[in-house]
Amino acid sequence: MSHAHGTRVQEYIGDPVSDSPAVEREELKEIFKDIQADIRYDHELNGCLNCGICTATCPAAHYYDFSPREIVQLLWTENLEGIYDAMQEKIWACAQCYTCAARCPFSNSPGGLVMLMREAAIKHGMQSAKDVLRPFSRVMLKLISTGNQLSPDMINPDHFADWGPNISKVEAPLEVLRKAIPMPTLNTTATAWEVNLKTSVELYTIWEMTGVLDQLETIDENLFDVITDIMDEKREDWEDWLDEQDEDDEDDD
Ligand code: SF4
Ligand code: SF4
Repeated sequence: MSHAHGTRVQEYIGDPVSDSPAVEREELKEIFKDIQADIRYDHELNGCLNCGICTATCPAAHYYDFSPREIVQLLWTENLEGIYDAMQEKIWACAQCYTCAARCPFSNSPGGLVMLMREAAIKHGMQSAKDVLRPFSRVMLKLISTGNQLSPDMINPDHFADWGPNISKVEAPLEVLRKAIPMPTLNTTATAWEVNLKTSVELYTIWEMTGVLDQLETIDENLFDVITDIMDEKREDWEDWLDEQDEDDEDDD
């Protein structure tokens, strides 16, 4: 591996025993520039004592090879190789509980910085982002197309194989039970509750305008296509309903 003249800065980052191509320094700079350019960056990072209070209170640090102190130090010292390396795996361990932000004497928010790094990982289509988000594709499809994150019909042995034999305890007659609930919007098992067409289209428009769908397209193009088709149909249904209302109004006049 070659090094820049007279410095310890690497021109490339890569695993010496891996077949994966090394990442060029220009790309590392680009990724860090994107993290730094976010309007929240200066608010979340104000310096660092390296005191470790954040790590001592971090639940993720207890269970994973992850330290918010390390993340903050990497960003504060602009360690491009270390930042990229942390984005391969470590940043995905954070639970976004923000205990660290409440405790840091410098008013840093390591959890908030992790969020910025995750967004940069998605923007750059990093494999770690694709791998982490793949198991949630069913939930994302449900959330964007119905406005609900989970639904009663998802609680079954096929969807929760990791629950082991305890899953048999939730084999209740959900169809019947849900129909017994007095509120009509809850009489379904396909969604937690029925979100009306107007709200569903409005939610989709918010995700579209805030860049969430662009992010989704970067990391899972197939899922993006499926969701776009579903929501295009919903938009057409909504437009048809509005046209019908106009026609009814004209008839009344
Ligand atoms: S981010 Fe804050 S709490 Fe964590 S090591 Fe730095 S100064 Fe200490
Ligand atoms: S927000 Fe993340 S880094 Fe901060 S304490 Fe919670 S899990 Fe740890």
